[in-house]
Amino acid sequence: MPIEFSERLLALPPYLFKELDRLRDEARERGMSIIDLGVGDPDRPTPNRIIAALAKAAENAENHQYPVYSGMNSFLGVVANWYKERHGVTLDPKTEVCSLIGSKEGLAHFPLAFVNPGDVTLVPEPAYPVYSSSTLFAGGKAYYMPLLEKNGFWPDYKAVPADVLKKAKIIWVNYPNNPTGASTTLERYSELIEFARRNDLIVVSDAAYSEVTWNDRPHPSALEVPGAKDVVIEFHSLSKTYNMTGWRVGWAAGGAKQIRGLGLVKSNIDSGVFQAVQWAAMEALEGPQDCVKSMGQLYKERRETLIKGLTKAGLEVFPTEYTFYVWLKAPKGLTSAEFASRVLNEAGVVITPGNGFGPSGEGWARIALVQEASTLSEAAERIGSLKF
Ligand SMILES: *Cc1c(COP(=O)(O)O)cnc(C)c1O
Repeated sequence: MPIEFSERLLALPPYLFKELDRLRDEARERGMSIIDLGVGDPDRPTPNRIIAALAKAAENAENHQYPVYSGMNSFLGVVANWYKERHGVTLDPKTEVCSLIGSKEGLAHFPLAFVNPGDVTLVPEPAYPVYSSSTLFAGGKAYYMPLLEKNGFWPDYKAVPADVLKKAKIIWVNYPNNPTGASTTLERYSELIEFARRNDLIVVSDAAYSEVTWNDRPHPSALEVPGAKDVVIEFHSLSKTYNMTGWRVGWAAGGAKQIRGLGLVKSNIDSGVFQAVQWAAMEALEGPQDCVKSMGQLYKERRETLIKGLTKAGLEVFPTEYTFYVWLKAPKGLTSAEFASRVLNEAGVVITPGNGFGPSGEGWARIALVQEASTLSEAAERIGSLKF
């Protein structure tokens, strides 16, 4: 018998960007100069003070051994302080916070702690693909909730049928949202938590982009809702806030039961975050935050530069003050894929078709603002010259 992938691997959806990757490589081979605005990975380096903290901690032999699985006490304490200062939320660092090797790792492992085979999780779409694949890996089934412009890309979870709801264990939300850039309010979190409480659901809040903004008002945390810890676990990352995607560090915070479940899974799989990286993360969170502010300003300027060119081509974007994405409407009569391939073939600009994040992303495309303004200005000009 030839070796064969497991059923769970075979059940993964096909790689939707494959065709676009092929078209990009073809365009390159034709000698076209390509501007890639596809991947959501910050282009700027990590601030120096954070690199210096890593270098210093890396020299200390105490940091060379296995770390404590759930995180160093000092790291957990810094996260708890951050929540207190940023959101007015009190957390017990020992039981209500856990370090992660990047928040993707935590999101991917979480369902293993609470989802049994045959259970359902309520997954928004379009969305970050980890929510559905981690559900699948735990033997569960994703029930998709469309995110629509008319609802501000907030899920209509009250429309989930009763028989599905009965089997549901988790509802996933991600605000500020990738790919749409949509934000949410404390009122909406509050209603969601009430709904989750009535239906015995865990609310998984993915807050990876909460600090990527040029807005002075902090984006609310789901944990600000009184009593939220009963049902909420919130995932955070240093990746997007401090240009640290390669460093692999984040955390989960929320109710002790949720954190304990995740910790139990993780202690059987990984051995925690390199302590020198935890020291660097502490420096990131506790040092001067002007780098966060200036990245926010930079994304604002990049966004405005790009939108100017897009508007020239008669295109429309979803307005936002968060994330480094532009959620762009495909021109009338074009599907997401047709639009993205015309922008690639005629303008040499890689954008991501919205349906790659789920069927309700059809009619949209995502542009990541991860190139300097001069490059974005050229991309805008090229797209602006197309006739749709
Ligand atoms: C980037 C991203 C993450 C994960 O970031 P890590 O680097 O794993 O911390 C999580 N959720 C969303 C929606 C993201 O875009």
